[in-house]
Amino acid sequence: MIILVPIGFSAEHELERMRALLEARFSVRTYISPTDLDPRPFLEPKRHQYYSSAILEQLERDVPQEDAKVLGVCSLDLYIPILTFVFGEAQLNGRCAVISSYRLDNKFYGLPEDPEGLQERLYKEAIHELGHTFGLVHCQDQGCVMRSSTYMEEIDWKSNEFCPDCMARIAPLF
Ligand SMILES: [Zn+2]
Ligand SMILES: [Zn+2]
Repeated sequence: MIILVPIGFSAEHELERMRALLEARFSVRTYISPTDLDPRPFLEPKRHQYYSSAILEQLERDVPQEDAKVLGVCSLDLYIPILTFVFGEAQLNGRCAVISSYRLDNKFYGLPEDPEGLQERLYKEAIHELGHTFGLVHCQDQGCVMRSSTYMEEIDWKSNEFCPDCMARIAPLF
């Protein structure tokens, strides 16, 4: 089971679309949590950013079901202390992951709006971070969704698919 947890994420139709896509992709029942996670405790005032690792810990406490993967979805600027920002974070081989649309949006870069591009990037990030929770590490394959991305362009360059090697690693789980 995958549970999507909105974190002050207001685009409901967007969440429902992602729910359906993820359910089809992973062949796992996927639900949207009726309760939001309040991100305010995780704001670092000096950085004006939200600490993603702490959000993961909160998701773990909020959704105790052992058999559930939990994906937090937000549009906040996320960080971990050693990096300027992250698009998302996941517990490798764990239960929880979080993604943000904040730096996947053309608006952030002063570029013309591109809602479809934003949707596709958010979808790729969701699959990427969930891939980590299923035990996948970063992949060198150019087109593989598990390739690591530092810049938004790099997300556009890769596909939303697992390469055959990554697929072979997670296929036995489903
Ligand atoms: Zn990654
Ligand atoms: Zn791969």
